[in-house]
Amino acid sequence: MCSKTSQIIHSKWRNRCRGSLAGIYKSLRNERDSAYLRTLKQSRHLNMSFLRQRQWDKMRILLNHAYQSVPYYRQQMDKVGLKPDDIRCREDWSHLPLLSKNDLRHHLEELVSTDYASKHLYQTSSGGSTGEPVRFYLDERRRRMAGTETHWIHTWCGWREGEPIARLWGAPEKTVHVSGIRHFFRRLILEPGFLIDAYSLNQATLNNFVDAYRRWSPTLVIGYAQALGELANFLLEEKIELPSCRAVVSSAELLNQHNAELIRRAFKAPLMDRYGCREVSLIACQCPQAQKDYHINMFRIFLELLDDDNQPVEPGASGRVVVTDLANFGMPLIRYDLGDRAKWSSSPGCVCGWDSERLSNLEGRTCDFLFRSDGTKIHGLYINVLVWEVPQIVRYRLCQESLEQVVLDYIENEPVPAAKLLWLQARLRETLGQQMDITLRKVETLPKSKSGKHQYIDCHIDPAEAPATPSRKQN
Ligand SMILES: [Zn+2]
Repeated sequence: MCSKTSQIIHSKWRNRCRGSLAGIYKSLRNERDSAYLRTLKQSRHLNMSFLRQRQWDKMRILLNHAYQSVPYYRQQMDKVGLKPDDIRCREDWSHLPLLSKNDLRHHLEELVSTDYASKHLYQTSSGGSTGEPVRFYLDERRRRMAGTETHWIHTWCGWREGEPIARLWGAPEKTVHVSGIRHFFRRLILEPGFLIDAYSLNQATLNNFVDAYRRWSPTLVIGYAQALGELANFLLEEKIELPSCRAVVSSAELLNQHNAELIRRAFKAPLMDRYGCREVSLIACQCPQAQKDYHINMFRIFLELLDDDNQPVEPGASGRVVVTDLANFGMPLIRYDLGDRAKWSSSPGCVCGWDSERLSNLEGRTCDFLFRSDGTKIHGLYINVLVWEVPQIVRYRLCQESLEQVVLDYIENEPVPAAKLLWLQARLRETLGQQMDITLRKVETLPKSKSGKHQYIDCHIDPAEAPATPSRKQN
């Protein structure tokens, strides 16, 4: 047997052993909801009327629960004279009030169910791809379901547990200093593979990705859409051919056609885009076969598309995405207005056979890169990580006109302490370079982009005019 064949067999056995260990470990620690995973797998074989009936059953249960145990919803429904029994069908759902990000921000504790003790709730904050971080709670089961959905998406792409994954993801320094045997076990056995920081991309980090990829031979690549586009462009320009993987999964922001094309060409693998947000997790995903429309996760999400008068849009028209999370009983989010826009798919069915509701033409959630003066690209999402540390800031916009200067305009809900502003300025300077002139300005309003969405990173530098990214040798 030649050494290459024996190497492949060896790595297959190693992956299989790792996968078995990871499966047992995650089941014992209750990290995965096995029943929900089975349901998700089955959902692809169920017809639309059955899916809608199941969805409606869950909507009714959730609404009764919210009215009985969530002060915010009882108050809102009483205000307009509605009782849960008045909502008799899916169409009646539109009589319920909408929930905005501002409502979530101002009524956080009133939105928590009195049936849940705080020790059974997990507090987290939004991924901030809108520049308006919000805090919220997940109950334990719902939190487990989010991890289960991620696992399901990966297996749908052909990945098998135990196989290495390449991640191009946000890894600010403070989150990677985890040590100890549990971290070692997780990194080598439970979640083998590697992570390259998508917040800071230059030739050195892109080369690091290539080296790690060759070392690990991952079967799946996961990353922020924009960062994956950068990586794919680098691979094509440098004529670097990597061993093929089963699929590439993009997430966290809008995947535009240009980047999608680059990623497919560079990796020669199917590309799946995931649509979701931290508050409600997975909303919809492209299937690996069709790679076009987005299948809605109907087992846990009820999705509406609304026009400017809050009426349902017709097929083919673009509307605002409003979602109800059917599983977070600890803090129900009913008719949560995300601010993204999409259209209902007009194609009759999907080649994969899954008869779910489908979206097309997702709009919004793009995020510019910023530039350090040395040419390193900084992913805009990283700025969110810094700004979230200042809870008094409710919205901001960071504008970069040149390689020497950035201006951060912010709206506050109460005065930001001077020490906190100095801290933010220092962290921005660490991120964008010590030479960068950084101005922080309190403002009353912020401009919106042409699409009506708030654009929180606004970079005016033409990438072609930025200095060449520093190479590994120069570092
Ligand atoms: Zn499909």
